[in-house]
Amino acid sequence: MYDKVQLKKGKETIVLRGHPWIFSGAFAQSYSNDIEEGKVIEVYSSEDQFICMAHFQDASIAGRVLSYKKESIHLDFYVNKLQRALELRKALIHSDETNAFRWIHGEGDGLPGLVIDVYDRHVILELHSKGMYQDKEVIAEAVQSLMPSTETIYASLPSILRQNSVWESHYLLGQTSESVILENGNQFLVNWESGQKTGFFLDQRENRALLGSLSKNKSVLNLFSYSGGFSIYALSQGAQSVESVDISEHAVSLCKRNEELNGYSGAAHTIRRLDIMKDSISDQLFDIVIVDPPAFAKNIKKRHKAVQAYKRLNQKALKLVKPSGLLMTYSCSQVVSDQLFLDTIRSAFIAERQQGQILKHLEQGMDHPVSLTHEEGHYLKGLLIRKI
Ligand code: SAH
Repeated sequence: MYDKVQLKKGKETIVLRGHPWIFSGAFAQSYSNDIEEGKVIEVYSSEDQFICMAHFQDASIAGRVLSYKKESIHLDFYVNKLQRALELRKALIHSDETNAFRWIHGEGDGLPGLVIDVYDRHVILELHSKGMYQDKEVIAEAVQSLMPSTETIYASLPSILRQNSVWESHYLLGQTSESVILENGNQFLVNWESGQKTGFFLDQRENRALLGSLSKNKSVLNLFSYSGGFSIYALSQGAQSVESVDISEHAVSLCKRNEELNGYSGAAHTIRRLDIMKDSISDQLFDIVIVDPPAFAKNIKKRHKAVQAYKRLNQKALKLVKPSGLLMTYSCSQVVSDQLFLDTIRSAFIAERQQGQILKHLEQGMDHPVSLTHEEGHYLKGLLIRKI
């Protein structure tokens, strides 16, 4: 039996339009004292009509929609969702050269609050809601039933869930903390305990492949290189030289390990530890400059400052691109829209008195699908621009 909650009059329309978040103001009353956080709830209209099943959280996003059918949210529910999501990934990735992918992309796969990344035989559950945290064991069971060869299942908690809480990231199966994965034939060391997010930025796979295809005999500058994803692809496709730059000591050593793993130790690759926003980067000009910073704006309030930072950063990067060279630039801030990002990059070109040609609009890979009714799921946007 699930707890029942009621919506205010008329609020069911928004929910039925398919946006997967129910804000607390839509509820007829506060349920904070009656319902434990993380519990599954049945949501009803003011006229007592069943609307959906959701996870309850005592926060501004008070309900995360799981199903528009009255059903039990247990093993079969998760097996069914994971299975459908896996079919898509199998259709997208069917080469022996790639064994890492995003299995569940939250709302985009109908499971708000849950991200699942697969690194060969190791499965990382990134739990963004208390509901998904409560359901982690049954999710792990669903994972094992669909992928019996799974050796490790790690429940990874973003800091927001760790604050003021006894909850910690932990293993649900096995204890292995790192593995070498294959992505389009390139090897990468991934550590889900010490790495950023779940350990690797799977969302850039298709863009890394594109970059690789443009890199032959080129000089490449990879800003915000983390574990060297773009750099390794460039080297594998015959780049003349690659420079990787990151502020973090950990990222720099990870990048070094990946360089060694793939056999590219040598003069063609240099790795430098710098603060890209503050330090001077290079006196040299490059054929291709990649700019892939962390999210500058985590919420709307930070958006204005973030836009100014993107502009400054891209002006700085643009100065390092040779005439006729390429700038591949990204934003992973969900609150910065495609249009706003394009406008920002345009104003960086204008401020530098430069002209550019847009060659391609870039985005997250297809294993990071976006629900038609949850635009917020589209967070990664990029532009490939030729300086003219
Ligand atoms: N392009 C990478 C992902 C980049 S993640 C990939 O494909 O895997 C963002 C990186 O930016 C992190 O590694 C972080 O350490 C680095 N970073 C953040 N602020 C920085 C700064 N001011 N200067 C240099 N690097 C920075």
